[in-house]
Amino acid sequence: MEKIIVIGAGQAGASCVAKLRAEGYEGAITLIGDEPVPPYQRPPLSKAYLLGEMALDRLFLRPEAWYAENGIELRLGAPVDAIDAGAKTVTVGRDVLPYDALVLATGSTPRRLPAKIGGDLAGVHVVRTLADVDAMEPEVTQGRRALIVGGGYIGLEAAAVARKRGMDVTLIEAAPRILGRVAAPETADYFRALHTAHGVRILEGVGLECLNGADGRVVGAILQNGEEHPYDMVIAGIGIVVNDGPAQMAGVTLDNGIATDIHGQTSDPNIWAAGDCASLPFRGTRIRLESVQNAIDQAEAVAKNILGAGQDYVPKPWFWSDQYDVKLQIAGLNTGYDRVAVRDGGAARSHWYYADDILLAVDAMNDPRGYMIGKRLIEAGKSPAPDVVANLEADLKALLK
Ligand code: FAD
Repeated sequence: MEKIIVIGAGQAGASCVAKLRAEGYEGAITLIGDEPVPPYQRPPLSKAYLLGEMALDRLFLRPEAWYAENGIELRLGAPVDAIDAGAKTVTVGRDVLPYDALVLATGSTPRRLPAKIGGDLAGVHVVRTLADVDAMEPEVTQGRRALIVGGGYIGLEAAAVARKRGMDVTLIEAAPRILGRVAAPETADYFRALHTAHGVRILEGVGLECLNGADGRVVGAILQNGEEHPYDMVIAGIGIVVNDGPAQMAGVTLDNGIATDIHGQTSDPNIWAAGDCASLPFRGTRIRLESVQNAIDQAEAVAKNILGAGQDYVPKPWFWSDQYDVKLQIAGLNTGYDRVAVRDGGAARSHWYYADDILLAVDAMNDPRGYMIGKRLIEAGKSPAPDVVANLEADLKALLK
């Protein structure tokens, strides 16, 4: 193994190259990214960074000099032009770079509102990159009116920041309720109440008919419930699509993302995938995880497996979200739940997801203890009875024994 190329200089790409060096790999490493900046963390983009509470230099995962110091060639602002999987080369501009192993860590791109309903007007934003947030930040100002389209975590976090910065905020969700794809009604109820208490107008079951523009800039919107309002800016948080362009160039199998096996290897044994773009086997099906922890863990497993470890990657899903003064921590994956037990400790609250009395996941709101114990129970394969976790008299820690 003399040459490894990683495409995608984000969370997974950066974790993969660091792990390759940490494991003692001494061959050439090239990390190729189409953004103009070194790898950075995305979660603060819709939280502390947009709020103006986190400096730019704290976003970067490592100082740029670290890559050169560790013999990692960083090619930034460089979208990949071609991949020849037979010849094992990647073309970037005029350079044809050979590889022995290729890692696809290309992440995802936010869905945009269609241009035919005004999605291409100035003042309509998405939240994925530093450039996206730097472009929207000057518009997130006191007294202006924001329409947030989409009631998932990105939309809700953006709504919280916009409110904290003194905007008048309306959030619309076309599905019957917010967080419909990712959380139980109990968690949606909690966050709806939180946002409403902070003055956000949340409309559920209401889609966007179209945006109104003047001189190429958004000035308002018509909602599918017939309401028409002026808005100064719009933020769309309506999901993502996998960046599978390089995977298509390489001709590897796609299946709701870049299909990998349990080791992170694609249908081409010389090509691996990790992070948001990878779909991996899990509990008899395939999943794609959009979280930092998965990007790091999967990329590190891929690095080891390229070097011959043969290690299975078993995700231990973990996610968080900050909204106002609430920290939500999620352990596990709730897919397929049939029951939710609520542990209502007032300020500290947790929602425990079960399927056939097996504990799958926990949403913990300002409840780090509930989160930590839930996570350990899930990892240990232990499932306390739902009635027990709902009982505040029950000592959760004792359940770990
Ligand atoms: P990315 O970090 O997106 O990196 C992929 C990189 O590949 C990008 O730089 C992309 O431009 C580049 N690329 C794509 N195609 C090419 C190409 N053809 N050539 C060259 N480069 C290419 N997760 C959490 O766990 N907790 C949170 O609170 C949380 N909050 C989030 C908030 C926001 C606003 C966003 C956007 C995401 C959040 N996430 C959160 C998700 C988390 O950030 C992602 O899961 C994680 O960044 C995935 O890492 P990745 O390396 O797979 O993709």
